[in-house]
Amino acid sequence: MSFDLVIFDCDGVLVDSEVISCRVHAELLTAHGYPISADEVRARFLGRSAREATREVEAALGRALPADFDTQLKGRLLDAFAASLQPMPGIVAALGQIALPVCVASSGTPEKIAASLTRTALLARFAPHVFSAVQVAHGKPAPDLFLLAAAEMGAEPARCLVIEDSVPGVTAARAAGMTAFGFCGGSHCQAGDAARLAAAGAATIFDAMADLPGLIAQHLDRKETLVADR
Ligand SMILES: [Mg+2]
Repeated sequence: MSFDLVIFDCDGVLVDSEVISCRVHAELLTAHGYPISADEVRARFLGRSAREATREVEAALGRALPADFDTQLKGRLLDAFAASLQPMPGIVAALGQIALPVCVASSGTPEKIAASLTRTALLARFAPHVFSAVQVAHGKPAPDLFLLAAAEMGAEPARCLVIEDSVPGVTAARAAGMTAFGFCGGSHCQAGDAARLAAAGAATIFDAMADLPGLIAQHLDRKETLVADR
């Protein structure tokens, strides 16, 4: 037994972006008449696409946000990322120790994913195996994006491992029939996140990327032991 593919979420897993994203998103929604804090944005929209967040806010407001709202948000996010985005601590060394094929599957737009991975010098490790929610009808928590990534990479869903920091992401991985590891080491993580990720179906929870290569090996050993015992 071995995994054939490791699928990484981008925001909050590869790059430490969620604190920046939630602050910028909250500021722009507030400026357009929907007062909301960065913490509320985090609780309601983390792991989901901007398109779906906008749809939900418009339903609550009973009116449309400006037609260029998503473009405004994207512009502000790219500016903020260019100024301060960092790779997740330990991710470069961890990727160097993982010999399995890897790819990225993110709720972000292709432009945002490319900008994030370029700014943090991670793009070369993954390109061209980078998949965005805009390629599927339904974003996380639906399984569509992870199933697309597995199909494009030629891997069986049951032999894929997903690394996720959000409940919608873990839910999507489980709905796709994949194993999920929940990561709660980003700057945005709070008490209770580990329990929420476990409740959503994460097989393992970890908070340091340095631990990931060992956790993958342990998980595979454990599976082999279970099969041998049967
Ligand atoms: Mg994420």
